[in-house]
Amino acid sequence: MRVFIGLGSNLADPAAQIEMAINALKSLPQSIFIARSSLYSSPPMGPEDQPDYINAVAELDTALTAHDLLDQLQAIEQQQGRLRQRHWGERTLDLDLLLYGEQIFDDKHLQVPHPGIPLRSFVLYPLAEIAPELIIPDMGDIEDLLRHCPRDGLHRIENSEL
Ligand code: AMP
Repeated sequence: MRVFIGLGSNLADPAAQIEMAINALKSLPQSIFIARSSLYSSPPMGPEDQPDYINAVAELDTALTAHDLLDQLQAIEQQQGRLRQRHWGERTLDLDLLLYGEQIFDDKHLQVPHPGIPLRSFVLYPLAEIAPELIIPDMGDIEDLLRHCPRDGLHRIENSEL
C-alpha cells in the first residue's frame, strides 16, 4: 500500500528530530521507503509562544495494516522522547498517517485521510512536492487543494533533501 506520513517537530533540534524519524521510517518492518520531501519551517499552530516547527512528508510502500502502521508511528514518537505539555503545544515529534492508499478510516484510533490535509500548508506543500498529481479520497485533486491553501508563513528549507 502506498502511504504518506506527515512529520513535525519544534523541540530539541527539530531538523535533527525529523531526520532521525525519517531514518526510523526507513527501518519499518514490511515496508519500503519511497520518497521524502524537503524540510519546511512553519509558524506554530495554536499557542504562539512556542518555537517554529520543522515539517516534512515521507512516502512508503507498506504491507502493514493501517492500524499496525499507526502503532509503529506511535512507537517512533515515544522513542524520540515525545513531550506533550499542552494541546497543540510544543512536541519533539509528531507523526501523522496522512494517506493509506485510497482507503478511508474513521474510527476511534484512526482518521484517514487525515482531516488536517486540506487546511494545513505544512502538510499540503511538502505532500505536493513528492506527489504533485495526487488525488485524495473525499478531498480531491492536490493541485486544487493547494490553490485554496495559503502558505501561512511556510518556507521550504533549501538543500534539505538528502
Ligand atoms: P496527535 O498526536 O495529537 O496528532 O494525536 C494522536 C491521536 O490521534 C492518537 O490517539 C491517534 O489514535 C489519533 N489519530 C487519528 N487519526 C490519526 C492519523 N491519521 N494519524 C495519526 N494519529 C491519528
